[in-house]
Amino acid sequence: MPETKGLVIVNTGNGKGKTTAALGLGLRAWGQGLKVLVLQFIKGNWKYGELQAAERMGADFVIRQLGEGFVNNTTGDDRAEHQAAAEKALQDARTEVMSGNWDMIILDEINYAIKFGLVSGEAVVELLAIKPPLLHLVLTGRDACQEIIDKADLVTEMKEIKHPYKKGIKAQKGIEF
Ligand code: ATP
Ligand code: MG
Repeated sequence: MPETKGLVIVNTGNGKGKTTAALGLGLRAWGQGLKVLVLQFIKGNWKYGELQAAERMGADFVIRQLGEGFVNNTTGDDRAEHQAAAEKALQDARTEVMSGNWDMIILDEINYAIKFGLVSGEAVVELLAIKPPLLHLVLTGRDACQEIIDKADLVTEMKEIKHPYKKGIKAQKGIEF
């Protein structure tokens, strides 16, 4: 038998494809009978196609949205809401990572949550250190911090060469959501 090892995988960079590549891994893993959990930081109540796909896939491919929607230069109460949601999301991530219920956990947009100061980078590095050895952990989002890159086994940077937004083409169903 080949060696089995849970990998830390990072999809980062400015180009499109970080979340969808993570979901693709999830699909592949699910097809192999692995149990997959996606915890979405930042993302709130958008109707992404993958949510409906997961509902049809059943109990072994679960997506939970834990964010408060798009965050950028929010301040005051808004910011506090995002902060509280992100802290709760991180706590949920810890619980699920340690639960032994999953073979792959995707922490979607967690890099972005760190970048905006909603989640501490150290707390995530700690999570990588305590994860069960067989669990695959996938972290997505632009601007992954160096400490996480250092700890990861597989890091891919998506590089933008062209994006339809630049031509003013709006988000398309099935492509962006
Ligand atoms: P996807 O979810 O399509 O895999 P992503 O995870 O790589 O994209 P995010 O940083 O999460 O990208 O951004 C979310 C949204 O922003 C997506 O709808 C995506 O198409 C869009 N986006 C990604 N890269 C760019 C870019 N370089 N310019 C404009 N919009 C982008
Ligand atoms: Mg994404």
